[in-house]
Amino acid sequence: MTSAAGPLLPGSTIGIIGGGQLGRMLAMAAARLGYRTAILEPQADCPAAQLANRQIVAAYDDPAALAELAEVSAVVTYEFENVPVAAASRLAERVPVFPPPKALEVSQDRLTEKRFLNGVGISTADILPVDNDADLASALSDFGGSGVLKTCRMGYDGKGQRLFRNFDRDVDGTYAAMGGVPLILEPLVPFEREISVIAGRGRDGSLAAYDPAENVHRDGILHSSTVPAAVSPATAALACRNAFAILEALDYVGVIGVEFFALADGALLVNEIAPRVHNSGHWTEAACAVSQFEQHIRAIAGLPLGGTARHSDCVMENLIGQDVERAPALLAEQDLVLHLYGKAEARPGRKMGHFTRLRPIAS
Ligand code: AMP
Repeated sequence: MTSAAGPLLPGSTIGIIGGGQLGRMLAMAAARLGYRTAILEPQADCPAAQLANRQIVAAYDDPAALAELAEVSAVVTYEFENVPVAAASRLAERVPVFPPPKALEVSQDRLTEKRFLNGVGISTADILPVDNDADLASALSDFGGSGVLKTCRMGYDGKGQRLFRNFDRDVDGTYAAMGGVPLILEPLVPFEREISVIAGRGRDGSLAAYDPAENVHRDGILHSSTVPAAVSPATAALACRNAFAILEALDYVGVIGVEFFALADGALLVNEIAPRVHNSGHWTEAACAVSQFEQHIRAIAGLPLGGTARHSDCVMENLIGQDVERAPALLAEQDLVLHLYGKAEARPGRKMGHFTRLRPIAS
């Protein structure tokens, strides 16, 4: 157990809600620090459970499963942001839950997220709520005929989005086609590049951030992250300041991913926050002494945060679907770190693994 008096003792169990690759890499990092892990995930033999000490096979909001997770865990964390807030809050009455459930609440709904960010002085794209086709027509007019329509909830990897350029589509029927759920319209942001910062906050309030990564998306899914990002030191510092402000406003413990649009004048708009370890931080496993996964485990266990300096420049690339067949050829390269997730079936769009190419730091 842990307390204000000290860190989680080796041999303690960390509960993880969600059994995907992020949970798997958290379980690996936890094991290196001497902890055990228990995974709550409905899919048996999930990537995380292959490496954890125990799996509870049940829905994320199953009361008996949550009670069992609380019973076996000294602290509970999660690897995805759509954990039901009520489940996390109920759990938090019995066992420390980090990051705090408030971070889930804020990040699960794009409207709530943007209001929270703007409320702590962080810039985002303008957004207009859309609850029917007439709202959409009016919002598109406000944004000059272009914009990105997004579902407020359950959107990730570009899912639940529709792009409009110069009034190029008839809006009739769009609201129903998007599922008849609350939507927002954002203007099309003319960003120069997309960057993200992975930052952490310890139980003692200490803060640390890795250097921003520059991200390229394909079909709404992250394709690659390059470090360093081609932004000025002032922009990189602004990204870190924004990430720290978010962590402090949420009284956060753990690692967060903050995605930004970088504009030509050096200004930043936050696109999204993810209250968890993040795909655009996978490079830290290869290019830093302490990865984002270990940093998260350190934070929630009440241990000191690790250094975030990188020893190499790098490019991380995801292996999506059939890309995984490249693995043997990639392993023939020098200075390349490969990571596969133990998923049996390489379905299109499914993240199967990633690799990071290291190169000496450019002087
Ligand atoms: P999201 O699910 O909001 O992270 O969006 C996925 C990707 O779509 C982003 O990383 C951008 O590449 C693109 N995108 C999302 N919103 C906008 C926007 N308002 N303007 C331009 N591109 C966007």
